[in-house]
Amino acid sequence: MNVEVNYKSISRTSSHIPFLKTRLQVGMATKESDLSGSGGLSRQNSGVAGPWESDLTAVQHSLKFVKKLEEHYVCPTCKGVVLNPHQTGCGHIFCYRCIQGLLENSPATTPACPLDRGLIKSDEVFQDNCCKREISNLDVYCTNSPNCSHRMTLCRLQEHLQTCQFESLQCSNAGCSEIMQRKDLQEHLRISCSYRMEPCHYCKHPYTCCQLEDHERHSCPEVEIKCPNKCSQMIKRCMLEDHANQCPEVQTDCVFKKYGCFVRVGGHIPPLSVLWNPILRQRISSCSRTISIFRSGWKLQSRNDCILNGSKSLFDPLGWVVADTDVVW
Ligand SMILES: [Zn+2]
Ligand SMILES: [Zn+2]
Ligand SMILES: [Zn+2]
Ligand SMILES: [Zn+2]
Ligand SMILES: [Zn+2]
Ligand SMILES: [Zn+2]
Repeated sequence: MNVEVNYKSISRTSSHIPFLKTRLQVGMATKESDLSGSGGLSRQNSGVAGPWESDLTAVQHSLKFVKKLEEHYVCPTCKGVVLNPHQTGCGHIFCYRCIQGLLENSPATTPACPLDRGLIKSDEVFQDNCCKREISNLDVYCTNSPNCSHRMTLCRLQEHLQTCQFESLQCSNAGCSEIMQRKDLQEHLRISCSYRMEPCHYCKHPYTCCQLEDHERHSCPEVEIKCPNKCSQMIKRCMLEDHANQCPEVQTDCVFKKYGCFVRVGGHIPPLSVLWNPILRQRISSCSRTISIFRSGWKLQSRNDCILNGSKSLFDPLGWVVADTDVVW
């Protein structure tokens, strides 16, 4: 339910009531004005908090007043200092938030004042700017005392807390939920925050510190890692593909595959170095043996065919290959 609370504008209050009149006098004066209907000022919806008090709700119950807080500045509902004071018809002063709560929680009936059981009618409630001024000028210690020794009027407290070195703050880096005093924030941001940005030692791209280790270990293109084919060389991650074309441990087809050798060998060795490569020499000789076995098998088959067909010539399709390899190796 939307409850309308009415108040007298500042100009009306100040024109009728001298500065720092008590809230009771304000209430009486207002009532007189209401009864007479004079003043010609329109009523407005209330609830507008001063900029200095709008953020005080969080510390309302931990404020440290230099002098003991007078009873009439204490809200009858929340027992804290009255913030954005609103006066009832019975002359008691509540926080706007609290009087609004009382009215909203009793939509069917008229709520009673907790102090004198007087009925609280919404059209009799008004924003008490005189009381607001008095409260705004009360002296308080910084809410971070005794660490901080500053004292000021209540209306300057928020301003002070914006720079107070002992105010608790959450780290401003996205993802970091650490809370510390303002005096420690710079060092945290510079040295210890896991979410600060740092350039990668290798590729120089910026990463949050908590991602950096993972980046360097698993994805940085400039980090040297062991060849995954175990050739014992250290290769930059971005060069792995190129290296795979030269790595002696990468298994490739025998250069004689087209002649029928299916042995897989290590290393992509350029043709000119074939003669000087002992590993490949060994592979090729085993390749030759394989071809010899093929040839023997073929000759036997061919001879049997000759006998069966009565032919005199032997056909050896692999003979020239083996002859070649025999010459070279
Ligand atoms: Zn209150
Ligand atoms: Zn009352
Ligand atoms: Zn302070
Ligand atoms: Zn942080
Ligand atoms: Zn990197
Ligand atoms: Zn390698």
